[in-house]
Amino acid sequence: MRVVREPWMLSCRMCGWVHYAMTAAEKAEKDRALQRYDLTAAERSAYESSWRQCLRCEAPASELRDAEESDLARATGHIVTPVLVEEDRESRGARYDRDRGHPSPAPLSGRV
Ligand SMILES: [Zn+2]
Repeated sequence: MRVVREPWMLSCRMCGWVHYAMTAAEKAEKDRALQRYDLTAAERSAYESSWRQCLRCEAPASELRDAEESDLARATGHIVTPVLVEEDRESRGARYDRDRGHPSPAPLSGRV
């Protein structure tokens, strides 16, 4: 049975870094904070994409999966960083249920 956690915690399939899913309101707040800086279009685009990837290894947000207990235990020593995920939790959950044939995360040393 899926355990619902608030906030929604995600971990990177590639490196195991744990993130939490940023809400639209939170993103809007960060955007407002940024308005006092005069960013170029390129800087703005880099800023936007930085919320859609793993902080550590820059894997795209699509490589993030629901965090498990072991991920969260590993995360206690580091700052949990926000990530912006486009799809909602329900559709993601359905996708992960289909993926259940491969329950074990990739080893940290693999696929890099
Ligand atoms: Zn990563």
